[in-house]
Amino acid sequence: MTKKLSVFALILGGMVAFTGLFIIFRPNIRVTVVESVVDDVDVIPATPEPTLSPEEDPRFSDLDSNLLLANKKHPLPDGYIPEDLREMDIYTAGALCEMREEAAKHMEDMFAAALKDGVQLVCASAYRSEERQLSLYSGYVKEGGQDFADSVSSRPGYSEHQTGLAADLSYQVNEGFADTPQGQWLAAHAHEYGFILRYPKGKEDITGFDFEPWHFRYVGMEYAKDIYRSGQCFEEYFGLEGGDYK
Ligand SMILES: [Zn+2]
Repeated sequence: MTKKLSVFALILGGMVAFTGLFIIFRPNIRVTVVESVVDDVDVIPATPEPTLSPEEDPRFSDLDSNLLLANKKHPLPDGYIPEDLREMDIYTAGALCEMREEAAKHMEDMFAAALKDGVQLVCASAYRSEERQLSLYSGYVKEGGQDFADSVSSRPGYSEHQTGLAADLSYQVNEGFADTPQGQWLAAHAHEYGFILRYPKGKEDITGFDFEPWHFRYVGMEYAKDIYRSGQCFEEYFGLEGGDYK
């Protein structure tokens, strides 16, 4: 009888202990799972090390390439002027807007498509020569010194506008443009015409530029769609060096 009781007590005690342990450890198991997911996300580096040198890959250094790179680490060759610039047949509110032939054609198609959706886009600035960039930049230096100039403008030779592949599609140059019908239409559709939002929000350390929801860069249809889907910026997508001046 005593033996039977102690066996029963042992079984009962075991069950209680098991239930207790289960209750204690089950939440821990869940927490562990959540933590491991967070750990996986954390493993992806925010600013990956560059793996490609633009000088060694003609896609980024060939002067005729749609992917010609101009950023704060990689200036264009001295005095570079694209050979196939032309004025575009789009609304500019009086500005002279020129781009390279292929980009110009796609920009015209994009403006027409936006208008069909009831959105009137405007081009405020497209190709800018090195001389024009020099006069803009010098003006800012006179106004507030070099640090101020660097915060609002590219140095001559370092501007993507000099490639003839980039355009500012707004006279409103602050983050608020992203919330306008034009800003929203461009963010959703520009890639369908070969353009990417070149300086996205959250990528400032990689591009070397603040968020510019009005600045679009031609890269060609296939790359534009793929870069858009990737959620990455230009430098990140190709593994190129970006960031601030050397
Ligand atoms: Zn721009």
